[in-house]
Amino acid sequence: MTTSDTETDTPQEPRDFIRERVRSDLTTGTMSQVVTRFPPEPNGYLHLGHAKSICLNFGVAKEFEGRCNLRFDDTNPAKEEQEFINAISEDVNWLGFKWDDEPKYASDYFDTLFGWAEQLIEAGKAYVDDLTADEIREYRGSLTEPGRESPYRVRSVEENLDIFRRMKAGEFPDGAKVLRAKIDMASGNINLRDPVIYRIVHKSHPRTGDTWCIYPTYDFAHGQSDAIEGITHSLCTLEFEDHRPLYEWLIENLPTPASPKQYEFARLNLGYTVLSKRKLTQLVQENHVNGWDDPRMPTISGLRRRGIPAVTIRDFISRLGVTKSESIVDPSLLDHCVREHLNKAAQRRMGVLRPLKVVIENYPEDQVEELDAVNSPEDEAAGSRKVSFSREIYIERDDFMEDAPKKFFRLAPGREVRLRYAYYVTCTDVIKDDAGEVVELRCTYDPETKGGDSPDGRKVKGTLHWVSAKTAVNAEIRLYSHLFTDENTAKLEDFLAAINPDSLEVLSDCKLEASLGEWPVGSTVQFERMGYFTTDLDSQDGALVFNRSMALRDTWAKIQAKG
Ligand code: ATP
Ligand code: MG
Repeated sequence: MTTSDTETDTPQEPRDFIRERVRSDLTTGTMSQVVTRFPPEPNGYLHLGHAKSICLNFGVAKEFEGRCNLRFDDTNPAKEEQEFINAISEDVNWLGFKWDDEPKYASDYFDTLFGWAEQLIEAGKAYVDDLTADEIREYRGSLTEPGRESPYRVRSVEENLDIFRRMKAGEFPDGAKVLRAKIDMASGNINLRDPVIYRIVHKSHPRTGDTWCIYPTYDFAHGQSDAIEGITHSLCTLEFEDHRPLYEWLIENLPTPASPKQYEFARLNLGYTVLSKRKLTQLVQENHVNGWDDPRMPTISGLRRRGIPAVTIRDFISRLGVTKSESIVDPSLLDHCVREHLNKAAQRRMGVLRPLKVVIENYPEDQVEELDAVNSPEDEAAGSRKVSFSREIYIERDDFMEDAPKKFFRLAPGREVRLRYAYYVTCTDVIKDDAGEVVELRCTYDPETKGGDSPDGRKVKGTLHWVSAKTAVNAEIRLYSHLFTDENTAKLEDFLAAINPDSLEVLSDCKLEASLGEWPVGSTVQFERMGYFTTDLDSQDGALVFNRSMALRDTWAKIQAKG
C-alpha cells in the first residue's frame, strides 16, 4: 500500500521566469497578492500537459500565498459536457490542489460580456459581419499579405446594435452573422485583423441551457473573465503569444475592473504519446483504447487507474521546470520519478506472472510451513508477514532455462537456487508435454537452508520468487507499454497508424501469494523482481485484476545487451 501523498511541495526560491516575475511584482508592490487560474475547456479529460499548467498555476498561488481559481472555459456548447466538468474537478483535486472558493465558469459572465460587446459597438469598435466563415478566412490575408476590409465593416452603430440584439434573440441561423472587433485589417498580427468575438450557435449549454444562442469566442471571453476575477498573472502556452496584443487591446478598450497580464510558457510534449484533446477524443471515440481512463492514456484518470501516484506527477512536472523553449520530454523521466517514490512507498509481495509448476520431491506431501517475509526493505515499520510454503509451488517461466548459458543465475537442470524466504532447491528433472514444452519441474530442497542461508557457507547466485500452489490466489494482470511506436507523434500525418499493437498484454492465469486476495482497489504493491502493480477497478470477489503500474529495470536484459 502506498503512503498518503496529499502534501504539495513549497519551494522557497523562484525557479523560473514566471516565479521571478511574480516575486518581483509582489516586492515592488505592483500588486499585493498573486491571483492565477487554471482555465480548462470542458470538452475532454485532463492529460499530463494540463498537469503542467495545473502545477504552475496552483503551485505559484500556493508558494506566494495567493489564490488560484478553477475556471471552466465553457464558451462552446457544441463540444462541452457535464461529464467533463466533473472529471476535471476530480482530477485537479486528486493532483493535490484546491481552488479558491467555488469553481468559476466563463458562462457566469455571459451577461457582462454581452454588455461589453454592445459598448464596443457603441464606441464604433465592433461590427456585425455577414461574410461566411470561408470568406472571412479569405479576406483575412496571410502572413505576407494584408487583409481586406469586409463590405459590412462600414455599418452604422445603430444598425450593428440592432442586428447584434436580433442575433441574441435567435433571428438568424448558425454561421449567418458574426460580431467582429474593428481593429486593423492591415496589421502585421493576423489576430488583430478584426477578430470574431461572437458567433451564433443554436445549441443547449450545460449550464445556461437555451438562454443564449450567441457565444463569445475564446479571445473575447478569456481575458475578460481574467479581469472580472482579478487574475494578476494569466499563464498560458506559447501558441497564445500572438494573441497577447489582442488580449491587451480588449482589456484597454473595455471597462474591465482590472488589467491582468498574460505570460506564455512552453507546453509539455511527451514522447510516444499524444497530448492533444482532439487526438485523445478520437482514440476514445473510435475505441482504440478502453475509455478516457484506459491506463495507457496520458490522461490524469488513466495514470491514476494505472497506479501512478499524484506525488510522482508533481515531482515529474517540477523537474521539467517552466521555460519558453519547446521540446519532447522522454517519458522515462516520469518512470524514474514513479520508481523512486514507489520503491519507498510500496510494500513487497510475491506474484508469479507466467507460472511454471515445481514439485519438491523430498518435501513431505501434507506439510505446510509459514515463513517470515519482510514487507519492505525500505521501511522497517511496515513489518513482516507469513507466506505459506508447501511441496508444490509456482515459479516464473522465465526463471528456468533448459540449456542455460553460464551467466544465467536462475534455475536450470542440475543447478541450485534460493527460493526467497524459503530454501535452496536443485532442479532434478524436467517434464514436457507432447509438443516438447516444459510443463513442470522436479526439484529437491535442502532442509538445512531454511530462511535462505546454508550453514555450510555454500553460495547460490540466484534468488527466485515463488508462490505456494496450495494457497495461491489467481489474478489477471494487465501489462502496458507505450501507446505509440513513434516518439514524435505530432509530426505524423496519420497518428493512428503509429498505434503500438502491443501496448496491452493481458496475462490471465497469474498466481499471487494469499495475502493479496484482500488487496483494496487502487492500492499499489511491488511484486518482487517483477515491478509495481495496482489493483484495477475491474477486480471482483475472487477475480482480481492488477495493472502493472511500472516495471522494475530488467537486469537480465541489460546483461544480455552487454553480451
Ligand atoms: P488542446 O489544444 O489539446 O485542445 P487545450 O490547450 O485547448 O488543449 P484547454 O482545456 O484549453 O485545452 O487547456 C487548459 C489549460 O491547460 C490551458 O491554459 C492550456 O494552455 C493548458 N495546457 C493544455 N495543454 C498543455 C500542455 N501540453 N502543456 C502545458 N499546458 C497545457
Ligand atoms: Mg484551449
